[in-house]
Amino acid sequence: MTEKCNDIHCVTHSGFKTHGRIFQGTVISAKAQKTVTVEWERKKYIPKYERYEKRRTKVKAHAPECVMFEKGDVVEINECRPISKTKKFVVIKKIEKNLEYLGKSQLIEEAKQKEKKKQEKVNSEDK
Ligand SMILES: [Zn+2]
Repeated sequence: MTEKCNDIHCVTHSGFKTHGRIFQGTVISAKAQKTVTVEWERKKYIPKYERYEKRRTKVKAHAPECVMFEKGDVVEINECRPISKTKKFVVIKKIEKNLEYLGKSQLIEEAKQKEKKKQEKVNSEDK
């Protein structure tokens, strides 16, 4: 983290006020500038089946410009006043890398490549 930043929505440097709930989640997209998409799992109880169902929650959160975020980072986010139409969370800290998630996304990538090769093979056999 750098000493200073000019981000008015930075909790550390600009004293941006937060309130409400704090969540921990994994960054699943860090493509947009100063915005990350964070996802986490919660368990929802389904009375009919007397069991818990895994549900995913996905939100957009403001990423202060003084911290670099990558896909697979585990972050803590805090509710705040709406920063834009879809953002009402701000990242307060980066905790660690979610290795399980990174491993999974690599597997998905590999599976995609395989599927593509298979498809190409099928296409060439058609000719
Ligand atoms: Zn900052």
